[in-house]
Amino acid sequence: MKALREKTRSLWMNVRVDPTAPRYEGKQTCDTIVIGSGIAGLSVAYELATRGQKVIVLDRGAIAGGMTSRTTAHLAPICDDGLSTLINLRGEEIATLFQQSQEAAVARIEQIVAQNGIDCNFRRLDAFLFPAMGISAKSARDQRRKEFEAARKAGAEVEMVTGVPLNGFEKAPALRYSNQATFHPLRYLRGVARAIRDNGGLIFADSAVVSVDEMSKGGVRVTTQNGGVIEASTAVVASNSPINDRFELHTKMSPYRTYAMAFTLPRGDLPDALFWDTGDPYHYVRMNPGPGSIDYLIAGGADHKSGEADDGDIRFEAIEAWIRSLVPTLGKEVTRWSGQVLDKIDYCAFIGRNPGSKSVYVVTGDSGQGITHGALSGLLLKDLVLGQPSPWAAVYDPERMPLSGLVNYVRENLSTVKNLAGYVLPGNLTFVDDLAPGHGGILRKGAHKIAACRDMTGRLHLHSAVCTHAGCEIAWNSTEQCWDCSCHGGPISTPMGLF
Ligand SMILES: Cc1cc2nc3c(=O)[nH]c(=O)nc-3n(C[C@H](O)[C@H](O)[C@H](O)COP(=O)(O)OP(=O)(O)OC[C@H]3O[C@@H](n4cnc5c(N)ncnc54)[C@H](O)[C@@H]3O)c2cc1C
Repeated sequence: MKALREKTRSLWMNVRVDPTAPRYEGKQTCDTIVIGSGIAGLSVAYELATRGQKVIVLDRGAIAGGMTSRTTAHLAPICDDGLSTLINLRGEEIATLFQQSQEAAVARIEQIVAQNGIDCNFRRLDAFLFPAMGISAKSARDQRRKEFEAARKAGAEVEMVTGVPLNGFEKAPALRYSNQATFHPLRYLRGVARAIRDNGGLIFADSAVVSVDEMSKGGVRVTTQNGGVIEASTAVVASNSPINDRFELHTKMSPYRTYAMAFTLPRGDLPDALFWDTGDPYHYVRMNPGPGSIDYLIAGGADHKSGEADDGDIRFEAIEAWIRSLVPTLGKEVTRWSGQVLDKIDYCAFIGRNPGSKSVYVVTGDSGQGITHGALSGLLLKDLVLGQPSPWAAVYDPERMPLSGLVNYVRENLSTVKNLAGYVLPGNLTFVDDLAPGHGGILRKGAHKIAACRDMTGRLHLHSAVCTHAGCEIAWNSTEQCWDCSCHGGPISTPMGLF
């Protein structure tokens, strides 16, 4: 079945990371096989290949064509969900290690850029946290004090300031985090992919992995959709939403869809800095140089649980209204896009040995900090794969089930239960003939539910409505022309690839 094309494009997608990467065929052996070529997979491959390992990377699609191509690329070590929340959930010691590890990840990107001469506009800058619109002055001051104290405890560079250069917030209580960073993610990964190959690594595109099996003699056997086989001492599953785990990891995190837009702005109207507010979900602003005297301003937010809303246009309108009120000289829209992040019950990613496995490692649970988590997975998994201790292993241990995260665990899984209960309900579509191009819906046929969608050319596509990961019912996403799943995310992957 032909994959449906995603509709939106991010600001970075005119750069292709490795357009000539071939499809994998045949049988090979290597030290480490990496599944997934986003920031996580390529960072792990880079760290191992530059230390003499024979590494093979497989991706089901284009190289770095997953969520990494849809990022907004802030490199902010500050916990996305607030350091005060992290300290409440996991204590000061873990929060400090978290902060140190995220800072180390950004420093590692900076070092890789310098060592390999990668032209990706990496730059250090300030980040500002300012109050969400409409909250009282007292709440704003209290929130600032709480986050300031938490950041100090965790060892972050932070300062209380008055005002940010956004309309209406010139006198607001704000925090300034110095030494944050940003870059062009795909230009960076183009350089990383080149370095992996220069160190003997092999990178394959359009090669979906369908099984990852530990062998009785030790090591791992990985099979691709077209029958290719790789045997390796170790496998690293860096497929964003893990393809080898059905329940253990998926029940400890939840997929959220998040939206971003880029606009033109006369250069100099807003300083090159990162801004985000204290809302939940939060809004953010980032800058990127455009042509001539134009900058691109990226604004984003409006997150919702994947598969639980199909109103992308309304969310884009809300983001645009928000940013136009803050930046009156904002120019025209350049592009808009959405993507998914996986939020964890205790706000730290899962990076380490896969629960129950000997030779399989995993990196997932990226949240809005997936770029730093990805670079960090290179540092952490390199140590674990090479049999060395890592100072951050406990922070990100995939086996953990922190008691303090149980409230989030129950809340997030309630919608999974609701989703599974959907099997007994009727579908939202009676006849497929009702489907206009670009639309999809669920049809009941006896005991079964069918996911039906019609692509932009008018061709009808029919599938089981059951996601192959946790068995949840999928939901149509008309913004991206794909199916999402509230249990594991999307676009839906099946053993046969994307649909
Ligand atoms: C709109 C948006 C804004 C964001 N902004 C930020 C930000 O400012 N800062 C930040 O740190 N993070 C941000 N994030 C999060 C961050 O972009 C992601 O978390 C990160 O890029 C994920 O990287 P990854 O390598 O884990 O996954 P991906 O980039 O998705 O890579 C996984 C790869 O695995 C491949 N794959 C999947 N299944 C298989 C299979 N069966 N066989 C082979 N390959 C497979 C996929 O094709 C894909 O290429 C944002 C995300 C979004 C959507």
